[in-house]
Amino acid sequence: MTTIWWIRRDLRLHDNEALTAAMTAGAPVVPLFILDPALLQSAYVGEKRLTYLFASLRQLDADLRRRGSRLILRQGPPMAVLRQILAETGATAIRAQADVSPYARRRDTAVSAALPLHLHGGFVVRPPGSVMTQADAPYTVFTPFSKTWRSLPGPDADRLLPTPMRIPTPPYLSGLPVPADPAPPTNPLFPPGEAEARRRLASFVAGDLRAYDRRRHDLDTTGTSRLSPYLRFGQLSPRLAVVTAVAAMEQAPDVAARKGAETWLSELIWREFYAHVLYHFPHARRRSFRPQYDNIAWNEDAATFAAWCAGETGYPVVDAAMRQLAETGWMHNRARMITASFLVKDLLIDWRKGEQWFMRHLLDGDPAANNGGWQWSAGTGTDAAPYFRIFNPTTQGQKFDPRGDFVRRWLPELALVPDRYIHTPWEMPPALQQATHCRIGREYPAPIVDHQLARQRTLAAFDAAKAVD
Ligand code: FAD
Repeated sequence: MTTIWWIRRDLRLHDNEALTAAMTAGAPVVPLFILDPALLQSAYVGEKRLTYLFASLRQLDADLRRRGSRLILRQGPPMAVLRQILAETGATAIRAQADVSPYARRRDTAVSAALPLHLHGGFVVRPPGSVMTQADAPYTVFTPFSKTWRSLPGPDADRLLPTPMRIPTPPYLSGLPVPADPAPPTNPLFPPGEAEARRRLASFVAGDLRAYDRRRHDLDTTGTSRLSPYLRFGQLSPRLAVVTAVAAMEQAPDVAARKGAETWLSELIWREFYAHVLYHFPHARRRSFRPQYDNIAWNEDAATFAAWCAGETGYPVVDAAMRQLAETGWMHNRARMITASFLVKDLLIDWRKGEQWFMRHLLDGDPAANNGGWQWSAGTGTDAAPYFRIFNPTTQGQKFDPRGDFVRRWLPELALVPDRYIHTPWEMPPALQQATHCRIGREYPAPIVDHQLARQRTLAAFDAAKAVD
């Protein structure tokens, strides 16, 4: 009997549990993607990620066509579209990959109650509920979660599911064309599709992974995998990523290479951790994980927030990262931590505003990882580290972009500023500002806040919030 493969965040044919289950009987499969208006119009979705999604759908359609199938694209509320396709095809089952976000879970619960929906794994390596404390409670701190995660068996390389050679699909079904790109042409940094994802994984493992532990914080190099958009849309199976990391650890030629692979595996486990946290604590999507921090008296000044968004705070490393995000839809992890800390701890602006801005601009914008990263940076989240961890934006720049290459790449107005002043341009004597065409307050803003004063203000605000609790 015909089965609907309802594609959501599993835009891949390799190692796909829902697709494999749909194909088991050898009967026709309908590869269906639904453009859900609730998601398309969400305040957390922006043009860059949509453009990437549309390019990815075109690529998936091409991959399906090579296997005698094609992508069926429809638009509308999922329940109504699924009913329609069930009626058109006489399908008896809908198979989909389970997701962890509160919206996805509400949607799937409603659909399951009315239609034959079966949910499968694949979003993470170990599904929520499978990594628990001895008291059968969810973990709220990463290190013990990671320890238990690593102690569980698998995944095994020889259990990865094969890519089907042929996917029989009913010929009579109509579908919409993939919509036109809402943003300028696809980001050249991230060509869509699972073939690209797998190529990147292989080249990362053969190259940068060896030095990953040492170089992953450097802002001016590309020492990380840049696989996040592919993991976000499931173009790369998380299981394949983990199996590859473990193999790289086992086959490492030296200690540094082994450490590189180990650390990278740990980052993949962070992804799993935040997925589990959001699953078990859905309140964190809108509120502080720790309720006492819902009482903070945030700074509501719109102009200050706008300066952060535009990369005009006067702190070069913050501004460079924010402009990189606006231009490319991607940002280095260290830069995410620096800009997030700056928004919350230096500007005292509600982390939820930054979280939403990131979601609107990131290609890899993911409710669980983004929320986890923001709450970690704000000090309101699962992390045991306290709220008084406050990054100094100047020393962070000096440490992780020592030559200023990253800053100069994104802030052309600082191109001629000497290394010595690249992270403190406001300290340049007036004659040097003139000579470098970087006059503070004219070509480049003066710092929007004094870091030391801002630090005191934030500590006081967090203390006050705790006192109310
Ligand atoms: P690599 O260093 O090569 O790591 C491999 C993979 O591990 C990543 O692709 C990602 O899937 C996962 N990963 C790595 N670090 C983390 C982490 N700290 N938390 C969760 N997963 C991780 N990641 C997202 O995928 N989507 C987001 O929306 C997102 N928002 C973030 C917001 C903030 C404020 C912070 C501090 C971090 C955020 N991260 C997010 C995590 C991290 O910054 C990115 O995953 C990473 O920069 C992606 O680059 P990469 O693929 O080269 O990572």
